[in-house]
Order: sequence, then structure tokens, then C-alpha cells
Amino acid sequence: MEKKRRILFATGNADKLREIREIMKNSDYEIRSMKEAGIRADIVENGETFEENALIKARAVCALSGEIAMADDSGLEIDHLGKEPGVHSARFMGEDTSYDIKNAAIIDRMNGVPDEKRTARFVCAIAAVFPDGKELVCRQTMEGRIAYAPEGENGFGYDPIFWLPEYGCTSASLPPEEKNRISHRGKGLRMMYSMLREEKQGS
Ligand code: IMP
Repeated sequence: MEKKRRILFATGNADKLREIREIMKNSDYEIRSMKEAGIRADIVENGETFEENALIKARAVCALSGEIAMADDSGLEIDHLGKEPGVHSARFMGEDTSYDIKNAAIIDRMNGVPDEKRTARFVCAIAAVFPDGKELVCRQTMEGRIAYAPEGENGFGYDPIFWLPEYGCTSASLPPEEKNRISHRGKGLRMMYSMLREEKQGS
């Protein structure tokens, strides 16, 4: 059997690791965590787009390890707020501020905004960087609306205020497998997996 190619996934987030491993479980790739590789990196994510930030992380980890590196960057874009918090989603109102407070503040700022103007999306960019300099990047989204009140116990971050009209609930009310099936990150990871397969066939 052909030896599996290793990819180092630039995250400290155990949920993201579990998700990518599940998606790649039948592939020729073995996903290694930063912890397993013994790599610690304090990377400044100062890009202006999700793609730039994913590339910044993947390039840094590839340079440090000499291995193929993969990274993601994600966030929430609210159309009525000029696509804020966008790339600043994690830092919005301060990294240490609870999401109960952030979500309540967003609902406040959306006060009086009618349904059709409450449109928003979660965005996820995924980048893979190879030691020979080759780079792959993709982006996927999950479209929805800002809810009128927080709801749901699953998920994390902005999920309790992200309303999915076709489900009639927020993404925090979906079971995790269902969210992974339709989420920006789930779709982005599956897209990167097929891009890696094509890249392998071409090489
Ligand atoms: P990062 O991609 O780990 O930098 O995360 C960016 C931030 O975007 C997170 O801290 C959350 O605030 C937000 N975010 C990204 N994806 C989701 C999601 O699926 N649900 C809720 N919040 C999310």
C-alpha cells in the first residue's frame, strides 16, 4: 500500500481537527496536529481577507515544519453592518469578551432591521501550502440571517444568533453532524480534499 502523505493542520482547536480527520479518513492523507508535530507558532493574522489569513498561517507552519501545511480562517459577515465582524470575528469587542455579550450587542445593533435586510453568512477559507511553494486556496459559505434572539445549545461563537430560514432554527440548534454537512467549514474542508486529490493526480 502507498504510504500516506502527511499534512500538518495549523490549528490548536480540537473540534476542527476532529472534523478534518473525519472528512479525510478514507483519503491518502494523514492529518497531524501541531501538538503531534511538536510545533508552537504565534502567528499574527493580519490579512485583510479570510484567504490571506489562511495562507499566512499555512505558509508559516510549512516554513517551520518543512511539511505540507493546511490552515483555515473563518468568520461571520453581516451585510447590514458592512460585512462586520468579518475577518475580525474572533477579536470583535475583544478576544476575551463572552459570546453572550457579543451576540447580544449584535442583536441590539440589528434592532428594527427587517427580515430581508438581516442577511449574513459564515465564511471559511482553507489554504494548503507545499514545501515546493505550491499553494491551494478555497472558500465556502453558509448563508443565513441574524436572529431576533439567541437560541440553541450546540455549536459555538455566533451560532446562537445565526438563523437558517430553511431549517427554521439557528445553527446552534442543529445536531453537529447536520451542521458539518452544510457549514462553511465542512464544505470548505471537503472542497480542499477534492483539490488535493486533483493536485495529486496532476503531480
Ligand atoms: P477562526 O477561524 O478560528 O479564527 O475563528 C473565527 C471566529 O469566527 C470564531 O472565533 C467565531 O467567532 C466565528 N466563527 C467561525 N465559524 C463559526 C461557526 O461555525 N459558528 C459560530 N461562529 C463561528
